[in-house]
Amino acid sequence: MSDTVHAPAASADTAGSTAGLDFIRARVVADRAAGRFDARVHTRFPPEPNGYLHLGHAKSICLNFGLAREFGGKCNLRFDDTNPVKEETEYVDSIREDVRWLGGEWEDREFYSSDYFERLYAFAEQLITAGKAYVDSLSAEEIRAYRGTLKEPGRESPYRNRPVEENLDLFRRMRAGEFKDGEHVLRAKIDMASPNVVMRDPTLYRIRHASHHRTGDAWCIYPMYDFTHCISDSLERITHSICTLEFENNRELYDWTLDSLGIYHPQQIEFARLNVTYTILSKRKLIQLVQEGHVRGWDDPRMPTLSGLRRRGVPPEALREFCARIGVARSDSTVDYGLLEFCIRERLNAVTPRVMAVLHPVRVVIENYPEGQVEEFDMPYHPEDPSRGSRKVPFSRELYIERDDFRLEPPNKKYHRLAPGAEVRLRYAYYITCREAVTDAAGNITELRCTYDPASRGGSSPDGRKVKGTIHWVSAAHALPAEVRLYEHLFAVENPADVEEGKTFLDNLNPHSLRIVAGMLEPSLRDCRPGEQVQFERLGYFCADPDATPGKPVFNRTVTLKDTWAKVEKRG
Ligand code: ATP
Ligand code: MG
Repeated sequence: MSDTVHAPAASADTAGSTAGLDFIRARVVADRAAGRFDARVHTRFPPEPNGYLHLGHAKSICLNFGLAREFGGKCNLRFDDTNPVKEETEYVDSIREDVRWLGGEWEDREFYSSDYFERLYAFAEQLITAGKAYVDSLSAEEIRAYRGTLKEPGRESPYRNRPVEENLDLFRRMRAGEFKDGEHVLRAKIDMASPNVVMRDPTLYRIRHASHHRTGDAWCIYPMYDFTHCISDSLERITHSICTLEFENNRELYDWTLDSLGIYHPQQIEFARLNVTYTILSKRKLIQLVQEGHVRGWDDPRMPTLSGLRRRGVPPEALREFCARIGVARSDSTVDYGLLEFCIRERLNAVTPRVMAVLHPVRVVIENYPEGQVEEFDMPYHPEDPSRGSRKVPFSRELYIERDDFRLEPPNKKYHRLAPGAEVRLRYAYYITCREAVTDAAGNITELRCTYDPASRGGSSPDGRKVKGTIHWVSAAHALPAEVRLYEHLFAVENPADVEEGKTFLDNLNPHSLRIVAGMLEPSLRDCRPGEQVQFERLGYFCADPDATPGKPVFNRTVTLKDTWAKVEKRG
């Protein structure tokens, strides 16, 4: 991962001080100082392969892989694949690609909870033998009814005191496939009156006659998350098992299970989930968007998925910077989407070449420019840094400029773009003056008749006269037509999950989230490859899309140039 992110932690660690560290790093430093876990740091990122990774996962990836890197430790990639019904290999493949893209490095430590099924089973028998688990034959509804509420204690199942031998026999027959789904479950025998509802004899195994994406039909009983997760952490000798806050109550069960089994015991630590304005980060809802066709797929550039952000042109460095800036805390909060855009701009500004494209073209004819003549202007890819090279851009009698760069009637004195009689600089080329705007019967402007000043070649003033406006352009005869996709937020409101009665989050979709325009690009972009990133001067940062066909590029706008975040910050 990038060295620029989270850099302070490692140095603070060597100094033995926790000043300025977030609470998780402070704990890791303290644990190391106390010699806990032999001063090792070993984390894991444990996605369930039932969807694509999103911005929230990015936070967890940066945290877990970041800790490993900063403290000279390791981070495993572990697929938490205990639910046979919802999981698919497509998701496993996408998760691997996304984690690697974001900079997560797991070397040969790619694990699957399903690889532990045999050992998990043995641990379950160990609990039964110790009198700490039993087979319950209540139905799912009955179990729920017996559980009690936050205010009332639960009731014990009539099957709770089955003898160990009977429990073992039933559990083995569950495994052998003698029972139907739901007929029995294995439960931990803890305390039905516990104030923590999680501890009221939680289910450890259930019967599911379903094929698993890795173990096929080898199993018809599957372990529950709470049982699997702590044991997987233990088997992998994880030191700090970091999860989101909703698992805070589950920590007691995590600890109980490992203590009851008497095996190696990692430390679970919870942190706040990431929420981002105008965005949904629930896998269930993201699946719905894809399956119902509200977006073009998991990697639709409007999606908050890592594959969507990548296709949109968000560099991994920007996402890592975003995660570093939001930090980790113990209380839930919502992050302004503008902060993400700010991080994207910062990164893209530093690395992308600048080129010219016209997205809403109107034709310009330069009446005094010789017909058939073509000049080439050498234009730098980065005006402040000539070492980054240049390209030749053709200029001719007919050009396209942005429709928005012309007004029949200038709105005010600050308007410095083109208008009848007004003079502007064509970027790196010439000064032109508009002589006439040609309109059609409906009054739409179809063409601008202009003249140029041959003495202003290169865009510099011939006689010291001032021209304030500089606009971009593309030579009409040489222009490369392209499909350009312009995006707005996928949702029209800041908190799309917050809905009135009778409405769903889908009612908050922004109908204008995708706008497709037919742009005209400078010809240097002819051979751009999918994923290539550029700044279209004055228009934003764009990324070439794989939907391109030969000779017809497709570009996604990653972000506009206008920064709202810096302003927000200044306003405080
Ligand atoms: P969902 O609740 O939508 O199913 P999940 O949290 O169960 O998502 P997992 O695949 O289990 O998804 O998540 C893998 C890891 O990523 C977990 O450690 C989880 O805590 C973390 N994670 C998921 N969403 C977020 C989020 N919004 N912010 C921070 N971490 C997250
Ligand atoms: Mg989960």
